[in-house]
Amino acid sequence: MRPVSYARATDTAAAIAYVGGDPHAEFIAGGTNVVDLMKDDVARPSTLVDITRLPLGGITPSATGIRIGALARMSEVADHPAMQANFPAVVQALNESASPQLRNMATIGGNVMQRTRCTYFRDVSQPCNKRAPGAGCAAIGGVNRMHSVIGTSPHCICAHASDLAVALVMAGATIHARGAGGERRIPIEALYLLPGDTPQRETVLERGELIEAIELPASTTARRSVYLKVRDRRQYEFALVSVAAGLDIAGGTIRAARVALGGVAPKPWRAHEVEAQLIGKPANAQTYAAAAAYASTGMRGFGENDFKVPLTGRAVARALAMAEAVV
Ligand code: SF4
Repeated sequence: MRPVSYARATDTAAAIAYVGGDPHAEFIAGGTNVVDLMKDDVARPSTLVDITRLPLGGITPSATGIRIGALARMSEVADHPAMQANFPAVVQALNESASPQLRNMATIGGNVMQRTRCTYFRDVSQPCNKRAPGAGCAAIGGVNRMHSVIGTSPHCICAHASDLAVALVMAGATIHARGAGGERRIPIEALYLLPGDTPQRETVLERGELIEAIELPASTTARRSVYLKVRDRRQYEFALVSVAAGLDIAGGTIRAARVALGGVAPKPWRAHEVEAQLIGKPANAQTYAAAAAYASTGMRGFGENDFKVPLTGRAVARALAMAEAVV
């Protein structure tokens, strides 16, 4: 057993300064990810700084969108009427995540920062470049059914775990983060890093930088959106492939489209080529099938996960048809 100190933060700036100045300190809120990692001996913080008493909660609708405090619980956000009316894909992604108990505990900020579920990452007896840079990657040539088919590197092929983040990319969310240098706003697409040569670095956030809120802009595509999650069992399972799709349709023609993929990449993956194929086309099954064929551009499997490449296109076509049916 490893000793760990606990400190309850009462001041945001002090909490940021503390974690920023101690390479072994970590923030903790709902604890549903960091405590798991500590049990597996993957995370070994010397100090946990509890941020749950900081004023970072709340869900605030406005004429331009919704601001969600980082400490808002997943279930709280999913149950909010303004979220249900304006961001159905985000609500569905939340409700398709984890279990009711976890959704009552886990925070929005923690959800988007959760670590990969790669089993080798969570098994300290196995080589993993993300956990121990330079050690190797046991998933390449190993059991990789759940792993990525795009955005990978020779150093890491893990898949991003968050359903919510996929829906937030589709919705064009902005992260409000605060660090030693003050506040900055980061489009969620720019938050995540691909593994490249440094798979241990997963986001652009600096040490001690804390997510304070997530802002969702109101849009027609977000209002007419769905989250489709394909997985091995109906509940409490991570995505094999997931699709967040939003459409803006007027007079039977697609005016705008947003499509993001989960389960296939080390970060939520925006399907730009699919979107481009949809604009100006009639909203029908033929259009969706033709556009979905572009979803797998650049994808390649690593053996056990080869099936994800054709599955992605089928899931995209289905998600687009589901989005069209949203009224
Ligand atoms: Fe580690 Fe990434 Fe390889 Fe998994 S895929 S073992 S997280 S380096």
